[in-house]
Amino acid sequence: MKLKTLAAASTAALAVLSLLTASGLTLSTSTMDREVTRLSDMVREVRSIMELEVHLLIHERESVRAALTQHPEHARARDAARAKLERWLEDLRAAPVSGEDADLLQEAELEVEHYLAVRADQAHTDGQALSPVESSPVTADEADHAYAALEEVLSTKLAEARVARVRVDEVKRRSEAVSIGSASMLLLGLLLALWQASKQIYRPLLTIRTAIDRYGAGSHDERVPQGGLDELRAIAVAFNEMAAALAEQRRKQLGVLASVAHDLRNPLTALKLTVDRLKPDRPLPPEERLRPMFARIGQEVARCDRMLTDLIDIARIEGGELELRYEERDARELAREVVELYRPTADSHELTLSLPHEPVPLRCDPLRIGQVLNNLVANAIKYSPSGGAVQVTVAREGAEIAIAVSDRGVGIAPEDHARLFDRYFRAPSSRQVAAGVGLGLWAAQRIAEAHGGRIEVTSAPGEGSTFTLRLPVTETGYCTRAARP
Ligand code: ADP
Repeated sequence: MKLKTLAAASTAALAVLSLLTASGLTLSTSTMDREVTRLSDMVREVRSIMELEVHLLIHERESVRAALTQHPEHARARDAARAKLERWLEDLRAAPVSGEDADLLQEAELEVEHYLAVRADQAHTDGQALSPVESSPVTADEADHAYAALEEVLSTKLAEARVARVRVDEVKRRSEAVSIGSASMLLLGLLLALWQASKQIYRPLLTIRTAIDRYGAGSHDERVPQGGLDELRAIAVAFNEMAAALAEQRRKQLGVLASVAHDLRNPLTALKLTVDRLKPDRPLPPEERLRPMFARIGQEVARCDRMLTDLIDIARIEGGELELRYEERDARELAREVVELYRPTADSHELTLSLPHEPVPLRCDPLRIGQVLNNLVANAIKYSPSGGAVQVTVAREGAEIAIAVSDRGVGIAPEDHARLFDRYFRAPSSRQVAAGVGLGLWAAQRIAEAHGGRIEVTSAPGEGSTFTLRLPVTETGYCTRAARP
């Protein structure tokens, strides 16, 4: 799985959970709100009905008192009670009423209105036709009816309010359950996401980090298990490949050291044997024998020096510190110097030099170009059998100077041509023929490139090879790269 997919899936899951929680809470809150509003409406209605009952009784009492005493103060109290009664009646009419109760309530209102009408008539005729005592039973009946009707509505409303109260409690319990349930789900989702993040991201990262720390501390066999998310697996694969490549490079570097030590041993052995013959306790050999011995010593020392210079150069090129010191030279001279250098040591090979009659001016670092030609000639000798011909040719070809080194040796298979200039590469066909480390051509190509040139190869197995150093030059013989200050 990809890190992006995991993050997207976790975010989506948490978003869905949050949405569900929010919807659940909104739903239960609005249900609760509706039920509470209903309950408070009912409470308001109950209160109106109770107030109506109370003021009906007060009005009745004040009406009777006013009729009995004819006192204006009682008449005022009666009127005040009536006003209140009417106001509460209005209040009740304004309250929203459900269909079932509407009939009962309307009936109660009619009863109260009827009572009020009768009482109003009676107040009007107070002190005229009927005495207050005579009129009382009539209105008492009306008051009783109105009161009974109100009582009936009240008891219905109270019963309904009780049911509504139970429902509110129920909704409250359900809301609490929804809140706790969704909060727990959200928490669980979060914990799950954290657990997944720890399992899929944190722990693999920790493993990679531990492996890198151990590798840095010197445990070069350390490798990272390749598992978990795609990106982390890619990091683990990259780390393992890097560690394997470094191990391989180290192995090759050790091989180079061993090979260099081995190569140095040959001239050193020759030197030792020669010097042994000049022991201080023995008389010196005659001059005619001494001279070739010193010449031999000179050659072997030069060979050691060349090998060490090559090695130092390779280290410099690897470190990106190749510094060129340009000089004006004749390319023919450079080729001649190399051939002359090898002629005495390569008795068993036929070294030939093919040069143009005209000078071939070349501005380059003669030491480095000499090193390149050295390598090409040394390889031509190394990878061709005794008696084989090795030819060095110098030519001006258009805007290039070409110095070719040809041999009739083992040759190289076409599929290996592209890798010849890779570090440590050795063609299988030549491994049995001579020892080597596969760094010479790599370094030679880097030097050619530093001059703006290149080395080309044409070769066929069993037929020999031609390595050509091509250096682009201006009319006056400058390497094009050197021409640019
Ligand atoms: P080394 O000779 O030390 O192995 P080089 O970098 O000089 O390293 O050469 C790389 C490889 O190219 C050699 O190992 C050999 O396989 C191949 N090679 C180079 N020159 C020749 C040649 N003249 N004939 C055949 N093979 C060659």
